[in-house]
Amino acid sequence: MPDFQSRRDRLWLAARSEGLDGLLITNPVSVSYLTGFSGEASYLAICATHTILISDGRFAEQIAEECPGLEAIIRPPTQLMPDLTSEVLGKLGVRAVGYESAHLTVHDLQSLSEKAKTVTWKPGNERVELLRQRKDADEVAQIRAAIHIAERAFAMFRSMLRPSDPEKELADALEMYVRRAGGTCSSFPAIVAVGPRAALPHAVPTARRVDSDPLLLVDWGARGKFYNSDLTRTLWSDHNGTASRGKLEQVFAMVLEAQRRAIAALRPGAVASKVDAAARSCIADAGYGPYFTHGLGHGLGLQVHEGPSLRPTSETVLDSGMVVTIEPGIYLPGWGGVRIEDDVLITPDGAEVLTQCPRDFASCRIAF
Ligand code: ZN
Ligand code: ZN
Repeated sequence: MPDFQSRRDRLWLAARSEGLDGLLITNPVSVSYLTGFSGEASYLAICATHTILISDGRFAEQIAEECPGLEAIIRPPTQLMPDLTSEVLGKLGVRAVGYESAHLTVHDLQSLSEKAKTVTWKPGNERVELLRQRKDADEVAQIRAAIHIAERAFAMFRSMLRPSDPEKELADALEMYVRRAGGTCSSFPAIVAVGPRAALPHAVPTARRVDSDPLLLVDWGARGKFYNSDLTRTLWSDHNGTASRGKLEQVFAMVLEAQRRAIAALRPGAVASKVDAAARSCIADAGYGPYFTHGLGHGLGLQVHEGPSLRPTSETVLDSGMVVTIEPGIYLPGWGGVRIEDDVLITPDGAEVLTQCPRDFASCRIAF
């Protein structure tokens, strides 16, 4: 059972040090992280003495089920959210209230400011997000489970793969395999890209058939109840196409080596930009520098993309408990692309690769 109280305690400690006497959490992801509630359209009000979930009738029973012991106030259909929220804040007697400026809309803030006249609103965009970067044991277990689901789905995908399959149908099938393997849904719409389409890091699946090129890039992930996984494998076959076998093998080896170096650089105390540089310099030394067109990776958890970000300008100091993707790629316009993405936990003395799906060149061969 996740320790929601200790998450709220840590958040409150940080809020107090900012001089706040109240917090209004409106991002449903933050609300889930702090309470275990999986619904939406509900706010969490926190002060020194109370933690109150403000919700509506659709969620009354769900809150009782998912958040036993948590104080909840249910809004009747006749009352609007800003009205009840300002009423609650008024009763709590809070004056300096922190809100999530990256989530609360200008419109909602205006409504709240009009209703709760005694409150001074203090923006902040990373209060909960910073806490979420370091995962506790329960979160790591949930991420492992989401990875396991994605890997089982990918095994089904590979076993069902036929030369005539078009990208779009494969992406749709992968979504179904994720659900069949126990996932709630895919973490994001899967990328299935054949040949030159793989040169687009975020290619949208088309009618292009697998047998039109030897190269097939698949970027997919599974969502468990709350947590996500995110993987990429670049598969190859003996079909003729733009990518010659020799060049494919060479580019693949380069990406794999860049990934290996980045994983070796992951440890508590490492600066994110340096980990990015470990992979980027490897690709640049081979002459492919301009073709690695995105950051090395990102944090992974309740959201598929969250902090810390691993890119050339990120000065974030990494710490144990962080789970990040390591996903170098080389994209050659008109030819194709190779990306290899794994999910990695930073441990007290280094890193543990959580994904187990084989990534070596031989294992990625599609034998039709
Ligand atoms: Zn991905
Ligand atoms: Zn990713």
